[in-house]
This record gives sequence, structure tokens and C-alpha cells, in this order.
Amino acid sequence: MAWFWRGLREGMVTTRYPKRPDTYANAFPAAIAVREAPPPLTAREATELCPTRAITVDDADMAQVDRGRCILCGRCTRGRPDIFTQGHGSETAAPGRTGLIVPQTAGDDTALTALRKDLASRTARFRRSLHIRHIDAGSDGSEEWEIAALLNPVYDIHRLGMFFTASPRHADVLLITGAGARGMAAPLRRTYEATAQPVVVIAAGTDACSGGVYADSYATHSGLAEMVDVDIWVPGSPPSPFSLLHGLLLATGRLTAKGLSA
Ligand code: SF4
Repeated sequence: MAWFWRGLREGMVTTRYPKRPDTYANAFPAAIAVREAPPPLTAREATELCPTRAITVDDADMAQVDRGRCILCGRCTRGRPDIFTQGHGSETAAPGRTGLIVPQTAGDDTALTALRKDLASRTARFRRSLHIRHIDAGSDGSEEWEIAALLNPVYDIHRLGMFFTASPRHADVLLITGAGARGMAAPLRRTYEATAQPVVVIAAGTDACSGGVYADSYATHSGLAEMVDVDIWVPGSPPSPFSLLHGLLLATGRLTAKGLSA
């Protein structure tokens, strides 16, 4: 009976996201942001700060962060808090690889809007029901914990008509984690070919986006792009369940991509 009284006392725990914004989602330290009008940074400082080469500088010595390479170690926010800050919010997924690079330019925004529209028109039929096949292509296991959480009472993706399936033949989406293990290249290709078209491929996590700290080693590629055409990129090491959900909603055109508030 204890669980019954506890349920009554605590009420409904399931998020209303995306119908309503969720303060819990917005509290996640989800990605690194560059402050407005930051001081310049040299290329050498950028290299010394970031262990994964996620930080680069442009011709005017202004810093850029590639969230698809960022492992959220926090070295940059501790070392140069005048330039880098922890961005909060969970809407971090993007329909193009360049969408993970901040700050964005006006040109990037136009290109991403076009990509988003194209994807939404391809996947309009997925809006009411979506079947997801998860594939581990060399993950460290952290992304899998967050994916499993999508099924718990807090996130409960079944309420959105989203379901995991064991067979690629029943799948609309391939949700792929891992840095791209070389041994997974052939199985991944076979899984992709066994999936009915149109299929949306989501790279889930920094390792999947860029290979992370093990990029281009004897055992792994530099992320999934070398193995399969990716439609949606979800950064994070690991991405939170809300960020994964954002990627799934983008894949079906049920949500427009928004910037992350710093
Ligand atoms: S938090 Fe990300 S961008 Fe900053 S130093 Fe670590 S890996 Fe690099």
C-alpha cells in the first residue's frame, strides 16, 4: 500500500514536455555556450584549454565551440569564465552537423531551417507513431542509461506514440550511440539496409557526433558520419533524456529547433 499513498502524495511526475516547458529540463547543464562579445582567444590557448579540440578560433580570434566534440569536462568554463559559460536547457539537437557549432551565424541558421523543413516533409507520416531501433556502435554505456530513462515514468515516451523495437524492419528511426567502432561498420550498414525508407538516423551523444576522446583510433572512426548518413545530431556526453527527446521530436518535425539559452 505504501506505493499507493506515495503516488497520491506526489501526484503525477511525468513531464508535459514538449506541450509545456519543463523547469527540470531547463536546469540541465546541457552544453557549453560562448558569452556575448567575449574577449579574443588565441589558437594556442584554445588548444591548451580543450582536450577534444572542440574550441577553435576564427580569423578575428573569436572563440567557437563545436558541441559535437565537447565532452562537458568544464575546463574552459573554469579556465576562461569570461568567454565560456555553461548553457542550460535541453534543446541541443540539430538537423545538420554545423548546427552544433556555437555561436551560430545567420547563414548557418538559414541552412538549418532548410534542412529541418526537408526532414519534416520526409517524415510527416511519423508524427503520430514512431518506432525506434537503438544500435550501439561502440558506446561506453553512458548513453544507454539515458536512453533507458526515456521509458521511465518521468519521460514516458509512449505518451508521444514513440516505441522501441527490436527489429530494423519495424523501425522508422535508427538511434545510434558510440564513437563508430570499426567492427560495427558492416552490421550498421546491414541494419540500415534492412530498415524501410524513409528512415531517420540520429547520432546520439558526443562520441557518435565526432568520436569523442577516442576519435580516429585503431578501433574507432571519428563518429558515425564516416559509416552512415546522419539526419539529426544530439551532442552531450551523455545527452540527457530531454536532449534525446528533442532529437526524436525534431526527427518527426513535431518541434522546431531552438537555440540554447545561456
Ligand atoms: S567543456 Fe567542452 S569545450 Fe570546454 S574544454 Fe571541455 S570539452 Fe572543451
